[in-house]
Formats: sequence, C-alpha cells, structure tokens
Amino acid sequence: MQNEKRDIRALSKEQLRDFFVANGDKAFRGNQVYEWLWNKRAHSFDDMTNVAKSTRQMLEDNFVINHIHVDQMQQSEDGTIKNAVRLHDGLVVESVLIPTETRTTACVSSQVGCSLDCKFCATARLKRMRNLNPDEIYDQVAAIDSESRLYHGHPLSNIVFMGMGEPLMNYNNVMKAIEKITSPEGLGMSAKRITVSTSGVSKMIKKMADDGVKFKLAVSLHSAIEEVRNRIMPFTTSFPLTELREALEYWYSKTKSRVTYEYVVWGGINDRNEDVDALVKFCRYVPCKVNLIEYNPIDDGEFQQAAPEAVNAYIKALERNDIVVKVRRSRGKDIDAACGQLANKNEAAV
Ligand code: SAH
Repeated sequence: MQNEKRDIRALSKEQLRDFFVANGDKAFRGNQVYEWLWNKRAHSFDDMTNVAKSTRQMLEDNFVINHIHVDQMQQSEDGTIKNAVRLHDGLVVESVLIPTETRTTACVSSQVGCSLDCKFCATARLKRMRNLNPDEIYDQVAAIDSESRLYHGHPLSNIVFMGMGEPLMNYNNVMKAIEKITSPEGLGMSAKRITVSTSGVSKMIKKMADDGVKFKLAVSLHSAIEEVRNRIMPFTTSFPLTELREALEYWYSKTKSRVTYEYVVWGGINDRNEDVDALVKFCRYVPCKVNLIEYNPIDDGEFQQAAPEAVNAYIKALERNDIVVKVRRSRGKDIDAACGQLANKNEAAV
C-alpha cells in the first residue's frame, strides 16, 4: 500500500531544505521550491519550471500541493465577488472580494462552518466541520489578489478575517497564514492592513497581545448588555463582558492598537436608550471605533434592521462622546456575499 503523501506546504523552509539534503540534493533546492510554493503560488509541481524534471517527479512521489480550487465565482452588480472555494477533501468555504474607490478588501474564512451560535448569522447554521490549514487561508487571499488585479487593475490592499468561522478558535493556523501573507517570501502584505475579527474569545485576545501581533482587532459586540448579548449570541455565557473588557484593556496596554466594535442595531432587540448608553459606556474602556453594520436578513425571523431613528440615536450618542462611528453599508447582498450571509447556499442546492 502506498504511504499517504504529505502536504508539502506544512513543511517549513528549513524542513524543505533538510529534505533535499537527505535526498542527495543541495539545500538551496529547498529555497527554490519554497519560493514556488508560496511567493510564486504554484498549483502543481510541474509549474516549477526551473526545477529539473526528475526532481519534480521526486516531489510528486512524496508530496501533494493541497491547493484550493475556486469552484464558482459570482459577481455582484456592485463589483463584489464571491468565491466558492473547494478544499482538497471536497469541503467548501466562501471568500469575498469587496472593492471600494480607495481599496480592495479580501474577506476570508478561517473554518469550514462555525462552532458559534449567533442567532442572526447564516454561517452559524452550518456545523463546524474543521479548521482551515494555513495554506488554505493563504490561497483564498492569493485567489482574491489575482481577481483584484484582473477585474480592478490593482492588487489587493486589505484583508479581513470576517468570512466563515471564528479565527481565534483556529488560532495557530490563522497566525501561520498571516505570517506567510505578510512575509516577503509570501505575499508581502503589511500586517497593518489585516483585521482579525472575533466574537470575543477573551483568552485568545490576551494571547494575541502577548504574541505581539501587528494586525488590527475587531470585536463583534452587538450589545454591551450581558443578558441581551447572551440571548442573541448564546455561547457568550462562557465569554462574559467583564472578561472581554479586561482582555481588551490588556490588548490595548500591550499593542496600543485601537479596537473596532462591530455592531448591528435590530428593532426590539438593542434599539432602546439603555442599549445605546451601555455601548457608550463600554466604548470608554479602551480607545476604539464603532462600525454600525447594516443587517443582512437571513430569514424573516426575529431579527429586523432597526428604524433609521434608532441607528441615528447611536450615532449621535457616540459622536457626542467623541467616539468614532461609521455606518457600513452592505456589499454584495444580491449574491449572498454580505456579512453573515456566507452559507454555501449554492453548494447546498446542488
Ligand atoms: N466569528 C468572527 C468572524 C466572523 S465576522 C466574528 O464573529 O467576529 C462576521 C461579522 O458579520 C461579525 O461581526 C458578525 O457579527 C456579523 N454578522 C453576522 N451575521 C450578520 C448579518 N446577518 N447581518 C450583518 N452582520 C452580520
């Protein structure tokens, strides 16, 4: 029986160099192949044109490149692109390209499905199947970078980990992917242009601070009142706001990096004065800004976008307290590419 081939991108550069030495070749060959795998985005060993055919065959015999495959690309009338990405084991995740006048942002997935249970999010209805590997996250970014160049004439400028999954529950692989994305040997992007979004896993926020990460942090808050938050995001009973506050204070003390709160205002859920007051109070703990996200209906259940007056009440109160607040219009709604809509819908229909 043939041994199962290893995923070559699970190897570090050093391990790849060692592999070549152990096989009677030069360590330098490892550098060459490593460059093909990451910087040059090779999909197969045959792409490695400056590597001898016999060496490519040897690699083929020992390893696989588990490259993602963009199964389907949908384009929205507003220019947003959604990729249905097939993984080597047949599972599917989605990633999104969001163009604006000044930037192109990739919204990438970190897990297949999600283990959280946010009641307003379509991804939460998919079971968490598995974590994505670093190379699978990297490939999503690389694919969107290529699409950005092709359709918008410039490279990708920003990345947000706001696709499927909870990035801080796949911490190691997300960190490894970001390492490659920011390395000159990978995509060479600046960490300052990357935002990791979490529903508020306090312990991991502290770990990130300790690890001295350079990217930005966003927290999906949606309510600064414990009971309300517990109701709409039931798992947060294990992640209380007091711990979140403490973790964010720790994060800021270590990184001096302002936190972004993502917040949707729903009618009858968090549109009262006391909801507004609680958010204003929470915003005083660490330097922050608030993104008020438009709700993208996933069905016609209990969640409805609040009336404009309620959203305005938030804006006024935050501004009065010198807290930066932006209203984020949804993009790509017509192709189910907006926040909270990623649910492999087309896949399910097959
Ligand atoms: N699990 C991480 C990463 C997902 S980010 C996190 O929770 O931060 C996806 C963002 O979209 C989160 O801020 C989430 O709260 C928000 N969201 C989920 N469903 C939504 C919906 N139906 N409409 C608008 N935003 C939604």
